[in-house]
Amino acid sequence: MLLSIKFQARNRFLERGKAVEKCFKCGTCALMCPVTRYGEDYNLRETFMYDIFSSEEPPAKQNLWSCSVCYKCYEVCPQDVNPPKVFKALKEIAFETGRAPLSVVSLVKSVIHTGMAFPMSDASRRMRAQLNLPSFAPKDVDDLGKIAKNTGLEKKLDILKAKRTNEHE
Ligand code: SF4
Ligand code: SF4
Repeated sequence: MLLSIKFQARNRFLERGKAVEKCFKCGTCALMCPVTRYGEDYNLRETFMYDIFSSEEPPAKQNLWSCSVCYKCYEVCPQDVNPPKVFKALKEIAFETGRAPLSVVSLVKSVIHTGMAFPMSDASRRMRAQLNLPSFAPKDVDDLGKIAKNTGLEKKLDILKAKRTNEHE
């Protein structure tokens, strides 16, 4: 059974996730999703099968950023639908249209400036010492900064950050 998907970015989205049309809402993927099982405020059944298919603006759905991209849902899907690929396409559209969450902007900035998505905590340093791992030395990330600047990514992130901050004030 094919599903009807209605939203503005429909054609653009389908180019990137054609298999989504084959989903017949059996719910098997939701049973296997660890974020649905252990996370808060996330349910693949709602986010993927209902929110996205019924929304006029699926890239605006903030829940799609909660997927941990473990691919368990894809492994069990009888239709080879690949929900994380669908989310990826939607996240790309969300980023391009300024709807990515502030937390994602901060994360990308952190990678550009430190080479890490999350700062190294004192607890992590202690754990490394207990495990006799070498102490952590920050990497040289000058090239990352240059790439971000020359490709316009840094500017795009600043614009996005200002936009999302204003929306939250
Ligand atoms: S398992 Fe596949 S077909 Fe079933 S609801 Fe999930 S994505 Fe759709
Ligand atoms: S890829 Fe995302 S949606 Fe699929 S099982 Fe993993 S966390 Fe859930």
